[in-house]
Amino acid sequence: MAVLPILRWPDPRLTTVCTPVRGDVRALAADMLDTMYAAPGRGLAAPQVGALLRLFVMDVTWKEGIRTPQVFVNPEILWLSDTRATGPEGCLSLPGATTYVARATEARLRWTDLEGALHEETLSGFAAICAQHEYDHLDGILTLDHLSPADRAIAEGALL
Ligand code: ZN
Repeated sequence: MAVLPILRWPDPRLTTVCTPVRGDVRALAADMLDTMYAAPGRGLAAPQVGALLRLFVMDVTWKEGIRTPQVFVNPEILWLSDTRATGPEGCLSLPGATTYVARATEARLRWTDLEGALHEETLSGFAAICAQHEYDHLDGILTLDHLSPADRAIAEGALL
């Protein structure tokens, strides 16, 4: 168990498409949860700690006092609702930048857990938005990539 360094934009590993998980990632997932809680954050994707694998962790309730750690191995987004909501999003790899991103308010995901069991669930509200944000990381997509060129320039200026 360890808190890992979190990569910051513009590290090129953050814009790399990650490869599927094949081996045992229990130790990595445990370290990622430690790192997420220490940051503190509510979601963390493997590429943010330099592991270019399709894996993310999230816990959307711990800041309200209830720990519900979740590990998503090789997640797929099966469906996104047409209903969108635009809200402020932070990212541990973009410290100091809050960007407004339009996201589906419901998302159906399929993923494997650390024991190899397959899960399928429709997430809603903050969990749906957080999962879409973390899933983007696995494809090398950051919140900056959702902005207009003008808004992106402003956001990048705040980061440099
Ligand atoms: Zn992020």
